[in-house]
Amino acid sequence: MSVTANSVWNNCLAFIQDNIQPQAFKTWFEPIKPIKLSENALSIQVPSKFFYEWLEEHYVKLLKVALTKELGEKAKLVYIIKMENTYGNKEPFTEKIPSSNRGIVSSQEMDVPIKSKNPELRNPFVIPGIRNIKIESQLNPNYNFDNFLEGDSNRLARSAGLAVANKPGGTSFNPLLVFGGVGLGKTHLAHAIGVEIKDKYPERTVLYISAEKFTQQYIESVKKNTRNDFIHFYQLIDVLIIDDVQFLSGKSGTQDVFFHIFNHLHQNGKQVILTSDKAPVDMQDIEQRLLSRFKWGLSAELQNPDYETRISILRNKLYRDGVEMPDDIVDYVAKHIKTNIRELEGAIISLIAQSSFNKKEVTLELAQQVVEKFVKNTKREVSIDYIQKVVSDYFEMDVATLQSKTRKRHIVQARQLAMFFAKKFTKASLASIGSQIGKRDHATVLHACKTVDNLAETDKQFRKYIEDLTKKFS
Ligand code: ADP
Ligand code: MG
Repeated sequence: MSVTANSVWNNCLAFIQDNIQPQAFKTWFEPIKPIKLSENALSIQVPSKFFYEWLEEHYVKLLKVALTKELGEKAKLVYIIKMENTYGNKEPFTEKIPSSNRGIVSSQEMDVPIKSKNPELRNPFVIPGIRNIKIESQLNPNYNFDNFLEGDSNRLARSAGLAVANKPGGTSFNPLLVFGGVGLGKTHLAHAIGVEIKDKYPERTVLYISAEKFTQQYIESVKKNTRNDFIHFYQLIDVLIIDDVQFLSGKSGTQDVFFHIFNHLHQNGKQVILTSDKAPVDMQDIEQRLLSRFKWGLSAELQNPDYETRISILRNKLYRDGVEMPDDIVDYVAKHIKTNIRELEGAIISLIAQSSFNKKEVTLELAQQVVEKFVKNTKREVSIDYIQKVVSDYFEMDVATLQSKTRKRHIVQARQLAMFFAKKFTKASLASIGSQIGKRDHATVLHACKTVDNLAETDKQFRKYIEDLTKKFS
């Protein structure tokens, strides 16, 4: 039988299993995957940096004995630390990353000192520098500074972003918090900073993650008893970009863990970049100590783009797509869509499609129709009536039932969800939400929002409701 990574590792495991507690074996050795055997070096994949440190600190002698038995005195062990692809498959723009851009995906060597109380235990047979730590940045190369057009509305945020990209962790903009309404370029700018840093400092570990994904990962880690791994993984990052931190509101467990990660990174001169749909002063249900950290660096606002910026964004889009469009049409679109660049782009893409597929001349009339659709959609998104309608439909009841005084559990839950989404997607006050959803008071709405947050963290089925419904609103 030929010697493979698998066979060598299986023999090692058999030996190790005989020598340690079953629980320890299950925790620390079962998750390891043998990857490669070349001459006398066995590469094994471990789930996190913390995992690797733990093995080195507690099991290095055992590993050495086991491996030497298999591969002789010159045995070497190489750790490969693999993070799951945190994009998930749902995110639409994963597909947009062309394979030639895989270079963006960092596969790099990091030399992080091992925190060990027993330095003599350190790594007696791992060649320093061949420990591969692979952390995929999750950056979208299509979002860069070149195509993030400058205007009065974004000048401060854009320049601060550039300054941070030039000297990550080395400016007073730490953290850099970019805030602004929906569709104004927060995600684009956040990626652009990361992309620029990767370009200038390829050896730095950059990670982009949405606060939502971060929360999910955290909840998973608590379930799987790997909270420490989670924390240690994040503490390794040089540049941590967290998108939409308002999502953390009301999630005290995740806030707590983020607080510790943040402090660690900040103390070590690592850069943190955050985006949010609100300024720190307006954030609700975020712990004070976290808010005060957010204010340490710079909060830069992305404002609604002025007319000139809207025109140049539209022209740039047309230019990149190689499409010509009459000035009065561009002008019409720019004049009527003012508060959301995503909608601005959506309208022009829609017009481009109409003209190229139907070989139709784009008339002002067509532009009006298209724009109207976009503007209407925005209005619909924010109405509490619409939210109640969608939630009722989803649970197959009518709006009157949702608003009724009944204490039946599934109806109460539907009502609480409607309140939760009304708070999330509209600017209405708690009192006004309450009065529109079955004449309740503001305390009831507040309680509903907290209940939903709690259930989201503890109840899988309920989390599914939230995910499904959220999709319907976005
Ligand atoms: P947000 O995260 O604030 O909701 P996004 O970053 O997703 O907004 O931006 C919405 C769309 O608008 C994206 O397609 C983005 O590329 C585009 N966009 C935003 N700001 C600019 C800008 N200054 N220049 C060019 N495109 C922009
Ligand atoms: Mg965004």
